[in-house]
Amino acid sequence: MRLAKCCRPVPGDTIAGYVSLGRGITIHRADCKNVKALMKSPERFVEVAWEGGNESSYRVELQIDEYAGAPVTAEQRPEPDGGEDPGGRAP
Ligand SMILES: [Zn+2]
Repeated sequence: MRLAKCCRPVPGDTIAGYVSLGRGITIHRADCKNVKALMKSPERFVEVAWEGGNESSYRVELQIDEYAGAPVTAEQRPEPDGGEDPGGRAP
């Protein structure tokens, strides 16, 4: 689930969940103008509620933002052995 950027619902707001294809459920405020437009497809709305008290839901949004801005972790691999010259300086 993700919170819509257009209306930024906060805990306590009346919210509606819109099922986006391939993106899961987007949470809008019930009075969002986009919701009114999306209501042309009412079958794609689901009932949603803030779960586990208000704070945890708010934390979900923060985690999403952090995740989006996290740098990509570089993968470090050791050099494979066997690249050494086996002694070309014989006397
Ligand atoms: Zn919205």
